[in-house]
Amino acid sequence: MADRYLHFTGTAPGRFLTRRLGLPQPAPLRRWSPETPRLEGPLLHLTAGSGAGAGADTEAGAGLAEVLAGVGLPVVGRADRPGAVVLDATGVTTAAGLGDVHAALHPVVRSLAPGGRIVVLGTAPSPHDHHQAAAQQALEGVVRSLGKEIGRGSTVQLVRILGVRAPGVGVPGVRVPDAPASGVQVPDVRAPGVQVPDAPAPGGGGAAQGAASTLRFLLSPRSAYVSGQVIELTDAIPDPVTDPAAPLAGRTALVTGAARGIGAAVASVLTRDGARVIALDVPGAREELERTAARLGATPLPLDITAPDAADRIAAAAPDGLGVLVHNAGITRDRRLANMPAERWTSVIEVNLDSVLRTTDELLKAGTITRGGRIVATASIAGIAGNNGQTNYAASKAGIIGLVRSLGPRAAADHGVTVNAVAPGFIETKMTAAVPFFIREAGRRMNSLAQGGLPVDVAEAVAWFAQPDSTAVNGQVLRVCGQSLLGA
Ligand code: NAD
Repeated sequence: MADRYLHFTGTAPGRFLTRRLGLPQPAPLRRWSPETPRLEGPLLHLTAGSGAGAGADTEAGAGLAEVLAGVGLPVVGRADRPGAVVLDATGVTTAAGLGDVHAALHPVVRSLAPGGRIVVLGTAPSPHDHHQAAAQQALEGVVRSLGKEIGRGSTVQLVRILGVRAPGVGVPGVRVPDAPASGVQVPDVRAPGVQVPDAPAPGGGGAAQGAASTLRFLLSPRSAYVSGQVIELTDAIPDPVTDPAAPLAGRTALVTGAARGIGAAVASVLTRDGARVIALDVPGAREELERTAARLGATPLPLDITAPDAADRIAAAAPDGLGVLVHNAGITRDRRLANMPAERWTSVIEVNLDSVLRTTDELLKAGTITRGGRIVATASIAGIAGNNGQTNYAASKAGIIGLVRSLGPRAAADHGVTVNAVAPGFIETKMTAAVPFFIREAGRRMNSLAQGGLPVDVAEAVAWFAQPDSTAVNGQVLRVCGQSLLGA
């Protein structure tokens, strides 16, 4: 459904009126296209904190410089109008050190090009050093606040590289034993495709290598609707990408609920990235599914994901195994709990959660998901914030978050497979077109970018999880919500 307000605010009278009335002024987002594959302007590389874990003269610093060079923007130390800023704050270990963060960002925030990107690099808050933990946790406050302030379609994120430690934190050569409170990371995962170096030096260059796919995504137009997020990377060594133009070449990807909406966009973006796609949807949507599949050159698979033999039928449709499995199919059956019959509860849990658990277990056990494989599930901000009338839906989506956090580390250890989730906010699809007008308008505007996202925004996040070199991205839930106020 067209966002008429967004178009109106793009006109001169619209800009004038909305400014006078103090109404939201969404900036049109620059998304990826073959014509605009990169941000406009150079990448400004800054460092905060003394003795930074990844300062330029360390092994990790050299690794980071190499990774930033691979982003495709000229990397500079000074710029009048940067398209992106990367602030390496892994070495910020004290409250006083936070002054360096202010000193680095204060002069550049205003000069950032519209639709620009700021990425702050941090590390794990230490369970052994509360000064370091306070300083590193403080970065989250900076990023989440700056995301709300920055405007003009720009975004701000924090990437915690858990393999990087500031000097003096932990024992050199011995891994930091436990991860931050979210507890989603088990750093000592060992499996083909997810090896960790035997004795990583603090701030080892390999940790920066693991961030390459994440920085490529965040520092590009592909992440247009992602802001205010915190992403934690393990120190797993990334699998190689043979062809950067078609990183998923040779892989088969199955997308559920692919006839329309977000699923069709995911199928399209994975096809763009070189995957052979199997597009699954209910037999009742066969015509739409076949149209979508024909448009993309994908293979249609009409199948209800809740069918008891769904995993067997998927395995039969992918005789060479699956490199990517995207659980996207989902339904809503809204009612307040007091008015909700059991059938509405059960059907939502069955489609959105139970079938995801069952098919994931069976396909992993059967080895259908190959080593180096990627599982991406679909949560929702309703699963984080809750929503009036959606106890069933929010339960199913919160359940997805539980699944991803628990299974990610074990799937990596046992199968060499990562498990992550996207949590979309307000995305313009048939599902949200059915929402009553005023609630729909509120959903669109109540985020830092003051607009709804598009299915392709979710699809780009799925494609980032699916990259072969996203091995260090595991157990993560990425909100694709323009930094929605809900559950923020
Ligand atoms: P949609 O209704 O447009 O598409 C969902 C697709 O899933 C449909 O093609 C439907 O036929 C298919 N499907 C439903 N039940 C199925 C089953 N049992 N087996 C196979 N396929 C089935 O929805 P959408 O907006 O594209 O949402 C896609 C996913 O994103 C869902 O999981 C949804 O919960 C989630 N999500 C959407 C939004 C949003 O704003 N649109 C926000 C948060 C989360």
